[in-house]
Amino acid sequence: MRGAARPPRPLHYERHRPEQTTLYRLVQQHAAHFIAHTAASTGAELPRFIKDEFDAFLECGILAHGFLRLRCGECGHDKLLAFSCKRRGFCPSCGARRMSQTAAHLVDHVIPHVPVRQWVLSLPIPLRVLLAAQPELVTPVLQVVQRVVERHLLGHTGLKSDEGQGGAVTLIQRFGSAANLNIHLHCLVLDGVYRCGADGAPSFVEADAPTDEELHVLLRSVIARLMKMLMRLGVLVEDMGQIYLAEPDTEGEESRTLRPLQAAAITYRIAFGPRAGQKVLTLRGAMPREDRARQPQCADIDGFSLHAAVRVQAHDRKRLEQLCRYITRPALSDERVQLNAAGQVELKLKTPWRDGTTHLVMSPLEFMQRLAALVPRPRLHLIRYHGVLAPNAKLRAQVVPQGPPAQAPAATEAAAAAACEVEPVQARPHRISWARLLKRIFDIDMQHCPHCGAGELKIIAAILERPVIEKILSHLGLDPQPPPKGRAREAGLHFVA
Ligand SMILES: [Zn+2]
Ligand SMILES: [Zn+2]
Repeated sequence: MRGAARPPRPLHYERHRPEQTTLYRLVQQHAAHFIAHTAASTGAELPRFIKDEFDAFLECGILAHGFLRLRCGECGHDKLLAFSCKRRGFCPSCGARRMSQTAAHLVDHVIPHVPVRQWVLSLPIPLRVLLAAQPELVTPVLQVVQRVVERHLLGHTGLKSDEGQGGAVTLIQRFGSAANLNIHLHCLVLDGVYRCGADGAPSFVEADAPTDEELHVLLRSVIARLMKMLMRLGVLVEDMGQIYLAEPDTEGEESRTLRPLQAAAITYRIAFGPRAGQKVLTLRGAMPREDRARQPQCADIDGFSLHAAVRVQAHDRKRLEQLCRYITRPALSDERVQLNAAGQVELKLKTPWRDGTTHLVMSPLEFMQRLAALVPRPRLHLIRYHGVLAPNAKLRAQVVPQGPPAQAPAATEAAAAAACEVEPVQARPHRISWARLLKRIFDIDMQHCPHCGAGELKIIAAILERPVIEKILSHLGLDPQPPPKGRAREAGLHFVA
């Protein structure tokens, strides 16, 4: 395999070790038990995509499950790159990398150089339960919000609906600060509208900030339209002047496994097991805060809230990127998950709650329930583009920024160039295409060798077969065996703290 012209330097090895984090160990020891326990206590299987998420997480970043070998064209420095799970549920390292990439992409390639206002819509608990169970409903909900906000912006600029067009990016955030399931919408809305001149070139007309009064009117309008739409779809029903969630269909395995998990994770309760239905224990390590006065530019009605106080100036791209990072941040970070002396999981809150709560305490099995509820359905798009930023919008190409070229082509080219060298390594029996392999790594900086800073990295091999993996890792003094995955305890499916 070492076919390079100049003698390669010894392999350099730098990597965090995911298998040493508390979160990894918890999943390793308790995921299989959790899956078996759920099946035993509900008589139904968890959906495949949730079991796969736990499995993939246990392989994420572990060299013993295979890696790419990269080499610098200048100094011959070698680097191993383990594959990532790239899942969207709870993996902190993939979540953090996705956050950085998404934020950079939005700033460099999507959001025009105009002022942007963040509109956040939170929903009452019954609607969170509904959207968790039927995520396809997010699309019509978003349409309602976008329509109301765009009409408001047009009104502020004095333009008619056919004279101007707004634009927005929405990030559907699925969790709150306690890794609780809390589906809410962060819309980054261009704070004004584009108007096309006689020559067809778009110019941006800024809108004024909404007053508190206007926000209340807007939220009322959003609520009225949402209710109407959800009743028309038959998921809400009205009876004697009260509105209820329609009886969900109780057929199918998900109604017995996933839905109770989701509902519990939304209300901070425990789904199955001896403590089912109870609230999660909390620890108070901070002083309760005084209830602050009502926030400006925030409306609250019947469990809905609409918040629009955050605005970023046209050229403050740094702040825009911070905001994009904030709204694409992962549900968990490794530091926030700890074990206490009694073997219970302490989940640290990002900021203490108003009552002084700093940590949630749960058994490992209860924590697995919380993780499972965080996993989004496959193919559910969590980023949506509207108006001039929609993928097919006529004006899109004229308004989006032309940032630096994306990294992806570099990696693809490197892979194509290396393909012939890689052939012998990955031939038979399970040939995996380059496209599929590259999907398992994040865009990395292929232009700058981490060792000399000057050379370009090339992928020289994909190491996927057990004997080769073992040989290389043993040679480097690394553990050639993947960490064992826990096995479901067979007898007595009782809670083990
Ligand atoms: Zn991962
Ligand atoms: Zn180098």
